[in-house]
Amino acid sequence: MSAVDANRGRSPRVLVTGGAGFIGSHLCERLLATSEAVVSVDNYYTGRAENIAHLRSSAKFEALTRDATEPLEVEVDQIYNLACPASPVHYQRDPVRTVQTNVLGALAVLRLAERTGATALQASTSEVYGDPERHPQTETYWGHTNPIGPRACYNEGKRCAETLFFDFHRQYAMPIKVARIFNTYGPRMALNDGRVVSNFIVQALRAQPITIHGSGEQTRSFCYVTDLVEGLARLMASPAAVTGPINLGNTGEVTIAELAEIIIRLTGSRSAIAYADQAEDDPSRRQPDIAKARRLLDWAPTTALETGLAHTIEYFDRVLRRGAATPK
Ligand code: NAD
Ligand code: UDP
Repeated sequence: MSAVDANRGRSPRVLVTGGAGFIGSHLCERLLATSEAVVSVDNYYTGRAENIAHLRSSAKFEALTRDATEPLEVEVDQIYNLACPASPVHYQRDPVRTVQTNVLGALAVLRLAERTGATALQASTSEVYGDPERHPQTETYWGHTNPIGPRACYNEGKRCAETLFFDFHRQYAMPIKVARIFNTYGPRMALNDGRVVSNFIVQALRAQPITIHGSGEQTRSFCYVTDLVEGLARLMASPAAVTGPINLGNTGEVTIAELAEIIIRLTGSRSAIAYADQAEDDPSRRQPDIAKARRLLDWAPTTALETGLAHTIEYFDRVLRRGAATPK
C-alpha cells in the first residue's frame, strides 16, 4: 500500500486521537514508518504514557495531552479518530462522558478535517450491530441495539458518530472512512482493562479464578492488534470512493468458555472457572463478515488466535513479573 498521500504527493501528516491507548499506540507505531509526522492526542482516560514511551525518541512523533472533544489546532492530512474508552467497564464508568467523547469528539475531528481538508477515519465498532439478529454481521445490517440500556452510551454514541461522519461527507463532500472494528486484543491492553482477553490472561497468570459472565456460550471473534492496524492503514489509503462502513475483524468465532479453556491451556494455569451473572444487554453472538474488506482493501487477518494469545500472554507475564519485582 502506498505511503504517499494520493492528493498531495508526499508522506502524510497524521493525527491519531486516542493515540496512547491500546490500539492507538500500535497504530502510531505502524504509521511512523510511512508518515512525515504522527501526532497523538489523548487525555489518558484509559490510555497510558508508557504505551507510547518508545515512540518519543522519533523526531516525527508528538504526543499532545488534550481532550479530543475540544477544538483541535493541528495541521494534518489524515485523522484516525480512536479517542473513546472501549472496555464496557470503563465506558460505563461515566456514561455521560462516553456519549460526549463519541459525539463531540467526532464533531471536533470532522471540524478539523473540514478546515484542513484531511481525510477522517472513524474507529467505529461491531457494537453498532447490538445483540445481532443476523449472523455473521454484514455492513448492510442496521443492527439491534437498546437505546436506553447500559451499553447505549457506547453503541448509540458510536452510531451517532457514524451519522455525523456520513452527514459531513454528504453535506460538505468531505473524504471520510468508517471502520467497524470487532473485538481486538494484544499487548498493551491495560491490566485493569476489564475486557475478556486481558481479564482471563491476568487471572490465569495469577492462578485466580477465571470469571465467566453468564453461561460462557456467548461468542466473540478475536482479531490480533497488528492485523487490525494493517486494516485501518489500508482503509485510509483506499480510493476516496471507499468510505465504508467496512468490517475489520477476524472471522474465527469462539465461545467465551472455549476462550477460557484455550488461555488455561496456553498459560498452563491451575485456575478454576468461576461463573458470574451475565452482563445486561450482552450480545449473544458476534462474527464479522469481512468480504467487503477482502474485496476493497485486499485485507484479511493473518494471525491465528493461539499465536496472538501467546504474544499477549508473554506481554502480561512480563508486566506482572515487573510489578512483582517493584518494591512497594
Ligand atoms: P483504549 O481504551 O485502550 O483506548 C482509547 C484511548 O482513547 C485511550 O488512550 C484514552 O485515554 C483515549 N480517550 C478516551 N476519551 C478521550 C477523550 N475524550 N479525549 C482524548 N482521548 C480520549 O481502547 P482501544 O481498545 O485501544 O480502542 C480504541 C478505539 O477503537 C476506540 O474508539 C474503540 O471504541 C475502538 N474499538 C476498539 C475495539 C477493541 O476491541 N479494542 C473494538 C471496536 C472498536
Ligand atoms: N466476559 C467474561 N468475563 C470477563 C469479561 C468479559 O465472561 O471477565 C464476557 C462478557 O460478558 C462478554 C464477552 O466476555 O460476553 C466479551 O466481553 P468484552 O468486555 O471483552 O467485550 P464486548 O462485550 O464489548 O465484546
